[in-house]
Amino acid sequence: MCATSLISHFSGVKKEIHVILHASKESLKSEICIVGGGPAGLTAALALAQSGRQVTVVDCARPPIDKACGEGLLPDSLAALNKLGVTLSGLGSELKGIRFIGAQSQVSSDFPNGLGRGLRRVLLHEQLAARAEQMGVRLLWGVKNVQTERGCVRFSDGHIETRLIVGADGQKSSVRKQAGLEHFKSEKRRYGFRRHYRIAPWSRHVEVYWGSGFQIYVTPVSDTQVGVALLSRDPHLRLDAAVSRIPTLAKKLAGADPLTPEMGSLSVSRTLRRVSCDGYVLLGDSSGSVDAITGEGMCLAFRQSAALVDALNADDMRLYQQAHRKIAAKPLRMAALLLVLDAHQMLQRQALAALAAYPRIFSLLLAVHVGHIRWGRVSGVLEPGIDVAAAGKFQAK
Ligand SMILES: Cc1cc2nc3c(=O)[nH]c(=O)nc-3n(C[C@H](O)[C@H](O)[C@H](O)COP(=O)(O)OP(=O)(O)OC[C@H]3O[C@@H](n4cnc5c(N)ncnc54)[C@H](O)[C@@H]3O)c2cc1C
Repeated sequence: MCATSLISHFSGVKKEIHVILHASKESLKSEICIVGGGPAGLTAALALAQSGRQVTVVDCARPPIDKACGEGLLPDSLAALNKLGVTLSGLGSELKGIRFIGAQSQVSSDFPNGLGRGLRRVLLHEQLAARAEQMGVRLLWGVKNVQTERGCVRFSDGHIETRLIVGADGQKSSVRKQAGLEHFKSEKRRYGFRRHYRIAPWSRHVEVYWGSGFQIYVTPVSDTQVGVALLSRDPHLRLDAAVSRIPTLAKKLAGADPLTPEMGSLSVSRTLRRVSCDGYVLLGDSSGSVDAITGEGMCLAFRQSAALVDALNADDMRLYQQAHRKIAAKPLRMAALLLVLDAHQMLQRQALAALAAYPRIFSLLLAVHVGHIRWGRVSGVLEPGIDVAAAGKFQAK
């Protein structure tokens, strides 16, 4: 095994991270081998290491690993990371809540359960990897040609014998295919792009601008930077064109220097029939995903990591399958609701107008979204006499 040091310059801070860059040709052993060291793979590694298991993570990329993302971490994501010993305080930018902005109306609400955080993916990755290394996780970066079979992960420079392979290799997961878990109940695709701009954030709320057939998110990610992410059904629509269709946003960004190139990624809503089989388990985007409009992708992976530990401790992977379904249920419902608004322009205008007229409904929906209250409680706590549809029609005129 050849170990070396990598000098990292993330966020301008020169810092030495000790990473293993090459595995030797000799055989390695690991109780659990995770393929994919993104947010899902690394948090699973942390949760498993915390429960006393021996874990190796292999990833074909090398840090800093970036990805097109809205880069918003909801308060419950931060709580989950805290439990794993990852504290992000002082990094990125605090997020107070969410604001929806339509052509004629807007509404905002603070999170009911604390602050969220906007944080560049490379910085999050750096924190997760550093903590995993501290916890004794073996990290293998830049590993090429990863192939799996039950009990073994092979790659160009060697192989790892293992009891359990965790597929955390993202949307296009090869592990999912190799495990024979590529049976989807449903799949829908949208297209995401993001770029960062040098500008002091004008709001501590994540702003979601609703356009015709697309949404643009603005997330503060530091005191001097915002991330701007586009989600659309149109594969040809790019950020500049979309921003120019939202004059209020175009005005705010006018003159702000782009700091990063436009980076794209698919936003997939996908449900799998099964997320585990003999010797394999899937986690994070490889195990299914919700549309990025929910801002929940990473949070799902954090919750799944805890569920995986519980299932392994009980020696019953059916518990993971059950928990996985339960974890995805609420975000799937919220995504479905938001995608209806994406698809129907008139309804979108009416709904935004209704929410603007009755911001308490928006606060309740956000409270459900961040896991503060249950869906079932929403109807019970709505003020009597609110005719949402009528309010929407009235305001939208
Ligand atoms: C436009 C957009 C905006 C989003 N906004 C948000 C947001 O604001 N908040 C949020 O929580 N989520 C957001 N998401 C979702 C979030 O980005 C994903 O849910 C999250 O990245 C999933 O993490 P993951 O580790 O499962 O996958 P990934 O982040 O894709 O990581 C997979 C890892 O596996 C490695 N890998 C891939 N293939 C192989 C292989 N064959 N061998 C070895 N390694 C491999 C990759 O190098 C990578 O490191 C957004 C998504 C999009 C598209």
